[in-house]
Amino acid sequence: MKDKGKIVKNVISLILMVAIVIVVYYVYQKYNFNEFVKAENTLGISKFERDKLQKCTNSNSYKIENPSYHDAMFYETVPVIPNTPYKVTCKIKTNEVRSKNENTDSGAHICIAESLEKSDNVTGTTDWTTVTFYFNSKNRTQVNIGFRLGGYEDECMGTAWFSDFKMESGMPDESNQWNFLCLLFDYVDVNIEKEGTNQNIKLRLTQTDKDDISICMRRFKTSMEEMSKGKMKVKYDIAETTTPITTLSYDEENGYYVSGYNVKEVMDSYLAQGKYDHIFIAFRTGDINQRNAIPVNDWIGLGSMEYRGIGFSNIRLPDDDSNYIYKYDTRINIFPEEVLIHEFLHTLERNAEEYGEQRPELHSNEEYGYENKPLLGLKEWYQDYINQTIKTNKGNIGLPSLIYTKKPAKEANFAYSRELQAFKEPENILEELNNIWNKIRKLFMVAQQIIVEE
Ligand SMILES: [Zn+2]
Repeated sequence: MKDKGKIVKNVISLILMVAIVIVVYYVYQKYNFNEFVKAENTLGISKFERDKLQKCTNSNSYKIENPSYHDAMFYETVPVIPNTPYKVTCKIKTNEVRSKNENTDSGAHICIAESLEKSDNVTGTTDWTTVTFYFNSKNRTQVNIGFRLGGYEDECMGTAWFSDFKMESGMPDESNQWNFLCLLFDYVDVNIEKEGTNQNIKLRLTQTDKDDISICMRRFKTSMEEMSKGKMKVKYDIAETTTPITTLSYDEENGYYVSGYNVKEVMDSYLAQGKYDHIFIAFRTGDINQRNAIPVNDWIGLGSMEYRGIGFSNIRLPDDDSNYIYKYDTRINIFPEEVLIHEFLHTLERNAEEYGEQRPELHSNEEYGYENKPLLGLKEWYQDYINQTIKTNKGNIGLPSLIYTKKPAKEANFAYSRELQAFKEPENILEELNNIWNKIRKLFMVAQQIIVEE
């Protein structure tokens, strides 16, 4: 009798043990994000779960649910080699993902946490979609790759599932040849706030505009090559699109301008070719004959912007066809490509800083005694800026020559790519157990630290 009671007791405790293990394993499977760290704007709003009902291939997908407008992600810290192109891909599925404001660069996407670098977004309700994110490590040795629902521009609500993560490193293209695209937007058709009312403004490029830009691009190529004394080579395409610009961005400093996201459909179709290193977009913001103008704060070009990691500049055509800013004339302007050079130099100025190099500000010409001259504008300043021959009592300054070989990551860098060991799922029970053990060890270490600190 005694023995029987013992056996029953043993069986019950065994069943209990098994039940506890099953429950723990179920909870673990549901909430285990492997090496990923969960992060959200306000703690406790988003739901992070593993979902076995929504699988893309093998493993349970990673789900973020935002019940209200919010920004949330899970990220992994990945070591990178400086000056190397990287490509991260994953599959994303969404249910009713929408952003708080209209026309913002947000949704379910891949990004580098604490930076503006990001992929395209998945929004609305979609089946599994492949999303690709390119970036250059520049001078970084590690980055936090995030899978995000929301964005730096806006918050989103809805549900997103992420799966099939993959990261590859490519070969940097160290040639000094830059491929430019100059995109002519024939039409602008936008609704903007002007003098307290909402107005629709329609504008179009004239044939004179197109001819001027075409000559300026040719001159831009020759000038960049000559002024840099061969340190860089320029190849370019000019493309014209009849797809109108229908949305604009706005900030206090510049007034209205065009961000890459404002013209994303057209930009994406060209970026898909995977060959461009810099994009100029040319358009009008006014027309003197129609007395129609979009308010801009006195800029003719805008630079230092990026779209999906590619340098991006605005080139604004004047409101009047007889303006000489983009026209070559021996009596008025013999440097009409100046705006293009200036805006591209903003990208090099930005790159130099992001590669950890010293360089003066592009707008600091007066500080070093360079002035805007008739006919030539600031050509001498740019020439010395490009060649690092601006004289100071601490030696010559300007752009470092290595900057002409530092170009953005693009598909062409991945012809011979190498897959990295990032975002790996445990493939068998041993790896899974090892993962669990590592987690317990980490928890234990954290607990120990807290005790020591106290
Ligand atoms: Zn500028």
